[in-house]
Amino acid sequence: MATQIAFRTPGSPRRPVSGPAQGVRAVRPLRPRVSVVIPARNEAECIGTTVGGVANALASLDLEWEVIVIDDGSTDGTGDAVALLDPACHASVLRLSRNFGKEAALTAGLDHANGDVVLCMDADGQHPVALLPQMLERWREGYEMIYAVRTDRAMESPFKRIGTHLFYKLLRSAGEIDIPPDAGDFRWMDRTVVEALRQLPEHNRFMKGLYSWVGFRSIGIPFIPLARTHGHSQFSRLKLAGLAWKGITSFSVLPLRAASIVGAALATLAFAYGSYELAHHILHGTDVPGWPTVVVGMMFFSGVQLLFIGILGEYLARVYDEVKGRPTYVVAEWRHATQDDSRIQAQGIPREHAQG
Ligand code: UDP
Ligand code: MG
Repeated sequence: MATQIAFRTPGSPRRPVSGPAQGVRAVRPLRPRVSVVIPARNEAECIGTTVGGVANALASLDLEWEVIVIDDGSTDGTGDAVALLDPACHASVLRLSRNFGKEAALTAGLDHANGDVVLCMDADGQHPVALLPQMLERWREGYEMIYAVRTDRAMESPFKRIGTHLFYKLLRSAGEIDIPPDAGDFRWMDRTVVEALRQLPEHNRFMKGLYSWVGFRSIGIPFIPLARTHGHSQFSRLKLAGLAWKGITSFSVLPLRAASIVGAALATLAFAYGSYELAHHILHGTDVPGWPTVVVGMMFFSGVQLLFIGILGEYLARVYDEVKGRPTYVVAEWRHATQDDSRIQAQGIPREHAQG
């Protein structure tokens, strides 16, 4: 059985870290208390293994921890599956009132985490806990954000691979923030980073952009994502494209600039062509009107105009969303697994994960 104490109860005395930490914070606990944040939507089949696995890994690192599973509008009893886990996992469920999406679920987790560090990971077992010792080591060296970088996208569809590549290229060329390509939400973050993220007021949250925006000393660790233990990805092509668009419009005004540049170029062309026609008219008399050219030109220009009005509308919609000031998520219930719940005791986590 894992024997760690959840840090809602007093933990062991804290000692300052010695060694290579270089002035990030004068004193860092040697054994940080870790809050594990796991957003989960319809992951009842794998959540037990994931929570058990991370609890086991943290126990073997001799750390204190809590696991917060954010039940993001699941319909398959994900929250109940967590409540049935062995209390030694120190898992609680933050149930959102409906599906708000992964970004909102992560935000909810960060808002409710109390640890010296927060570890974000997926519920589906794709994020290997074997990286945790390395993450801890890096944190002890003084890094405030340690993110896992996928080195292998072979298991993804060409659509996702090419789309992701283009997306990062576009965001990087906009030059406003430097989002490391292939870095996901599997991250170990110091409390200072979490507090900075929590201060960002925007409701429409594109987390990968926000992690980069807040800055801090960050370092990537390469990893190969494991196969999903159960089910399939919940991000369809349409959802991914939506997320990419959200990222671009939240972190770059590049589309608006493109609209201005294309508009200016077309206006210059139209002016040049108009001048040419005028000169031709004065010098050679009236021409037979070129109706097809006029019609094609009109259709083209109105198409371009509508497209750019649409892009303007997208930014306006972002502003509208923010101005409404609705919360990013609504919590329906926060449920802690308790030691004296005999039902929970009876079920337990799978033996292989319960060993500390
Ligand atoms: N997820 C969530 N809310 C959603 C969709 C997904 O909390 O609306 C969680 C999901 O349960 C998983 C993580 O986000 O823990 C990543 O989702 P998924 O595995 O579907 O994405 P992928 O690995 O394909 O990027
Ligand atoms: Mg996944």
